[in-house]
Amino acid sequence: MSSAYAVRTASPGAAVAAAWSPRRAAPRAGTAAATSASPEQVRSAFAATAAELEEMAARHRAENATAYADILDTEALIARDPAFADEVVARLGELDAESAVERVTERLAATMAALDSEELRERAGDIRQVGRAVADRLAGRLDRPPPDGAVVLLAEEVGAPDLLRYAEQVAAAVSGLGGPSSHAAIVARSLGIPFVVGAPDELLDAADGLRLLVDADAGEVVLDPSADRAARAVPAAAEPGAVQALRSLPTRTTDGVDVSVLANVASAVEARRAVAAGAAGVGLLRTELVHLAASDWPSRAEHERALRPVLEVLAGRPVTVRLLDFTNDKTPPFLSGRTSTTSSLDLLLAEPGALDAQLDAVLDTARDVDLRLLVPMVATREQLVAVRRHAAAAAARAGVGVPLVGAMLETPAAVEAVALLAAAADFFSLGTNDLTVATLGVGRTDDSVGPAQTAHADVLRLIEDAVLAAGAAGRPISVCGDAAADPGVLPLLLGAGLTVVSVAPSRLDQVRALVRATSVASAGQRLAGLLGARAGVSGG
Ligand code: PEP
Ligand code: MG
Repeated sequence: MSSAYAVRTASPGAAVAAAWSPRRAAPRAGTAAATSASPEQVRSAFAATAAELEEMAARHRAENATAYADILDTEALIARDPAFADEVVARLGELDAESAVERVTERLAATMAALDSEELRERAGDIRQVGRAVADRLAGRLDRPPPDGAVVLLAEEVGAPDLLRYAEQVAAAVSGLGGPSSHAAIVARSLGIPFVVGAPDELLDAADGLRLLVDADAGEVVLDPSADRAARAVPAAAEPGAVQALRSLPTRTTDGVDVSVLANVASAVEARRAVAAGAAGVGLLRTELVHLAASDWPSRAEHERALRPVLEVLAGRPVTVRLLDFTNDKTPPFLSGRTSTTSSLDLLLAEPGALDAQLDAVLDTARDVDLRLLVPMVATREQLVAVRRHAAAAAARAGVGVPLVGAMLETPAAVEAVALLAAAADFFSLGTNDLTVATLGVGRTDDSVGPAQTAHADVLRLIEDAVLAAGAAGRPISVCGDAAADPGVLPLLLGAGLTVVSVAPSRLDQVRALVRATSVASAGQRLAGLLGARAGVSGG
């Protein structure tokens, strides 16, 4: 019989897969019992943990992901801190080694958790992650590799390294501890992995192999879900064997409107997931996420290191690369305090060297893809004209053609200005995440707002205005905000006349299934009903 647990959402989405707890392995035979660990064994457990984290960091740095590497390096530094190991060793007389590690970890984490800054408080999780890795090592509970196929990762505290190490296989993750600003949550969102926290022990004890539905959007985990419940959250889960076949079918609504479903990515891992799931291309490559720990504007070389592995995976496909969008919760230390008063685009335009560094890197690394440039947080035509001027100069330096330049529409003012912006924009992309919070007057990290709130009439009205104005100006328009993957909103977006959507790689199958089950004509009527007297726009 299935049972359901209420959990908190740290990364949206839904997935069904087999439960797997990497740290539940029995102590390995031949491993020194924790109680008898010597000071040398304790120190070498810290050193081995640090080395493993550094090795993973180097791998991620080489592959693409500077921010992931920085997270792992932070944890490696904690493990390398001699004061941490010294304090554990000093307690070996009174406690066994594992308990000593736990006690010291808790003391350090509690100190951190009591600090004023939210960011530092979240680092308590990194300390616990390191402490747990050292304790596991001393007790011989080394991670086992996951079984074949997709898994739901379960742990008392899922860490960023868990997600990064097993990114190709983790369909979803469930943690007891942690919050939406933890490093694990940041990585999960970036990888498109549904992630929930606040899971009770009973759920974390689920046997390996048990089928779990993680419905992060509904804040629920269901053990052994019924086919109906699973299909409601993840339509493709109803017949896992048929997923592959469905991927090759056209994505056409019941009334014959073809819809192009692209992917949002920020890393090579996500790009591989997107390609494997049959994405037609990438509608949004977020370039800022890998630079969130940056201490200065990224250099051309840093951009290239981050971009090259992603774009290699996407060779031959359309890829929309967005310029750096340091906004709200995406503020690196060097811009601290500035993103609340100045838009990401104005910050970038005020640093022409930083803009050129990114444009040079993009144009050089994107030679094998069908490149489009996307400008975030656009407010005025002048901003677009300035970006176009820089893009044309960068294209000349690279000896390539000037790419199409599109504008994100993510504020009510931008939507109202579409007709004017169209003079300097080759295409538009609706950023429903920011558009929704800006329209409803709430903060981006406000827990009460999610993709579903894009169905608010005030937001839908703006979306309909944007589609009409872009159409009148002869400019293509798509949507890349998370609402495009929301089952309650997607049909309304199709009803408004949108035919290109870009969603997290983990949502591609679900979104295509929903498109195939939607009638644009009836969705348009529903939209018209929601918007009162105004007529809906039929798709096409
Ligand atoms: C958006 O605002 O909808 C969007 C796609 O941009 P981001 O989520 O990166 O702010
Ligand atoms: Mg945005």
